[in-house]
Amino acid sequence: MSELPPVLFNDFQNSSDFEDLDAISRVVASGHLILGKEVRAFEEAWAARCGVNWAVGLGNGLDAIEVGLRAAGIGVGDEVITSPMTAVATVLGILRAGATPVLADINPETALLDPASVQRCISPATRAVLLVHLYGQMRDMEVWSELCVSNGLMLIEDCAQAHDAIYQQKTAGTWGRFGAYSFYPTKNLGAVGDAGAIITNDGELAVRACSLRNYGQSNRYEHPFIGLNSRLDEIQAAVLTARLEGLGSRTMKRRQTVERYRSEISNPAVKLLSPPISPENHANHLFVILTEDRVKLSEHLAERGISSLIHYPIPAHQQESLRGLERDPSGLGNAESHASKCLSLPCAPHLSDIEASRVIDAVNQFQSSSTF
Ligand SMILES: *Cc1c(COP(=O)(O)O)cnc(C)c1O
Repeated sequence: MSELPPVLFNDFQNSSDFEDLDAISRVVASGHLILGKEVRAFEEAWAARCGVNWAVGLGNGLDAIEVGLRAAGIGVGDEVITSPMTAVATVLGILRAGATPVLADINPETALLDPASVQRCISPATRAVLLVHLYGQMRDMEVWSELCVSNGLMLIEDCAQAHDAIYQQKTAGTWGRFGAYSFYPTKNLGAVGDAGAIITNDGELAVRACSLRNYGQSNRYEHPFIGLNSRLDEIQAAVLTARLEGLGSRTMKRRQTVERYRSEISNPAVKLLSPPISPENHANHLFVILTEDRVKLSEHLAERGISSLIHYPIPAHQQESLRGLERDPSGLGNAESHASKCLSLPCAPHLSDIEASRVIDAVNQFQSSSTF
């Protein structure tokens, strides 16, 4: 057992090194490092791939949420309903825009926001629902569209885990007013550092976002807005364009691994989340299982050289910095329960068939008295 090589969670390789190095040296040699043709080219390519008119490259996914919200006119006095079961950046983006996050509970079968809980969170100050396509899942988008329309709310999508996920022919981020993407190195499309973007069909929103990312500048030396510095840089943009070519096949590879996990993992101590309605609804950023015996299962995997992670062990409302956030009056019990049971297995594209088999065998051999 101990001689087997480790099964890594991520390998940080999105394309061949040659493509990356070509892209990087081209930019460095050009001497144009900020807001030039590489950023424009990636924005065009990403907008086209998502099927929207505009993509605006930004520094990271957190900034994408802040800049998108501000460009959409959401700020002080406005409430934005979102999920506590997400990367903390989702909630920080709302706070940084000056708005008030309100946390609704999740559906325990999917770990995604529960529409009934969101309904309970709506107040006269509610302006938007920020959906998180957690783990890469897109579900019930017609339900969310209808809920937002009938309550006069803006639908916004956190797509940081959902590159290339499609629901009823529409890509993640195109159902809402805007979609916020992260290209953090371990995301399904990752840069060689921090990077992010918003996508939208709202041209005015896109223009405001372009201004906000560059000190709130309209024309050179004129600053009608209090902006920030959140410019996607030319090197990251060039690498992202190079890596975009392989995204489809890497997403396929994730799907093949996950399909094996879904059909071959069988252990009464382990529960899987609901499968997607259609395979393309899921970008398979993470493969998450539930177990009452998480510490023991992760140790059992580690003894067999298999890494696992937890997304996420602490829901947003239990973070020290975020205690006291407004929430569903019925509580956030499903999110708390999920946080205590979830475990993510390796499913990134670097995983070989043999490695996937090792993961499956190890999970199936795990023995626990706590069953579902
Ligand atoms: C990664 C992530 C973010 C933040 O992206 P950064 O680029 O790290 O700022 C936001 N939301 C979700 C759901 C994420 O997974």
